Amino acid sequence: MSELHDECGVFGIYKNDSDTDIVEETYLSLYALQHRGQIGAGIAVNNNGNMTHYKDFGMIPEALPEKEISRLENGKMALGHVKYSSGEAVDHENLAPLVMRYIKGQLAICMNGALTNYHELRDDLNKGAAIFQSNGDTEIIAYLIARARIKSATIEEAVMNAVSRLKGAYAVVMMSPSKLIGVRDPMGIRPLCLGKFGDSYVITSESCVFDSMGGEFIRDIAPGEMVVVDGEGLHSYQCMKSEKTALCLFEYVYFSRPDSIVDGVPVAKARQRAGKLLAKQHPVDADIVCAVPDCGIEAAIGYATESGIRYATGLIKNMYIGRAFNNRKKNSEYLMRIKLNALKHSVEGKSVIVIDDSILKGKTSKHIVDLLRNAGAREVHMRIASPMFRNPCYLTSDTTPKEDLIASDKSVEEICKYIGADTLGFLSVESLPEIAKECNLDFCDACFTGKYPVDVSNTSREDKYSQKIK
Ligand code: SF4
Repeated sequence: MSELHDECGVFGIYKNDSDTDIVEETYLSLYALQHRGQIGAGIAVNNNGNMTHYKDFGMIPEALPEKEISRLENGKMALGHVKYSSGEAVDHENLAPLVMRYIKGQLAICMNGALTNYHELRDDLNKGAAIFQSNGDTEIIAYLIARARIKSATIEEAVMNAVSRLKGAYAVVMMSPSKLIGVRDPMGIRPLCLGKFGDSYVITSESCVFDSMGGEFIRDIAPGEMVVVDGEGLHSYQCMKSEKTALCLFEYVYFSRPDSIVDGVPVAKARQRAGKLLAKQHPVDADIVCAVPDCGIEAAIGYATESGIRYATGLIKNMYIGRAFNNRKKNSEYLMRIKLNALKHSVEGKSVIVIDDSILKGKTSKHIVDLLRNAGAREVHMRIASPMFRNPCYLTSDTTPKEDLIASDKSVEEICKYIGADTLGFLSVESLPEIAKECNLDFCDACFTGKYPVDVSNTSREDKYSQKIK
């Protein structure tokens, strides 16, 4: 149960048949992306260039109530977005999709990722008297496209011009009056894929969306590729080139759903491999292996398979906690108790290996060890299916500062003592690429190694988010 905040999830559909109810398909598809963001959700629909939208805070049923969604005009295209951001989303304006009017009509846009040159771009736009409604990256990209469109013959040209100025990690989906467009950052840090639902094209963050729709996965969108869908079909442009690629390894560890395939590697398979490697690197005698749900489950199965120790359910997660409860931060210990419970009959009197995906601040791990001990576990051995998370991520929505990361200044022994486990073991950094060895991209592992794939020296997430909205 990672303490790293989720990403965002993006979705876009271009309808090519008369049967598809585009609003309903977008709404239902967002459920398959809910794990990527629970702070807010939104839908924008394009009916012959006239765009209507609705977005609000909360998980999908709360953010997108039936009475609001039914007011959206059905149309030819739609965008959907689920958002997580620990800093931005205090303002409604930061929810997505962002729908704006510009010289060529309306433009709707949403993204997953984070720009590392946000300040530079915003300062530049400010000098041109830009008026911002939000303090998010999405509006910056929308502005750049609108500006570029004045001098560009086509929307494609304008988007290419705009994204050439972006640095960082992004998967963007947008609608012009007549086109659905998806762009992935040149290093492929954030995932983006293409599929079909009937004759309609879909661009989204994860392949599990196609399964939930009853559609088909076509392929991952390549790093630096722009995909355009219009009345004439699908068009692809390799609009940016990078000497290196750097897919976020945390997609395999935590962000993506286990039933997704990210850049050719099934996420469940990657997690099971991590568990097997963990069993080889940190063996221990115990009665059972259990998982911290949900992201520890596949790794725990891998650990149990490799070690021969029986897999058992030791912790139960409450699936029914919405935003209102999540916002009760003052009572975070109570929140953790409500979120997780130990299965007493499963762990009582036993030596338990508990597998989690990662440790950031350490508070959740400490709580989990307490839960298992209070339920009667004789020994608790914690194993983490990723390396020590020592460095902040500047390429996601997460804003956890370095000083809050327990591994930034503590050894394994010190962390073990803090969380109260009998033993603790992390997956080695060297073995990380092994978990997704079929992937044809290289990886970003900066949160573990400190080696960022892009310059992050001018990126201060805290400064960024404390910037006043003007
Ligand atoms: S720093 Fe970590 S979480 Fe951030 S993009 Fe890189 S691998 Fe992913």
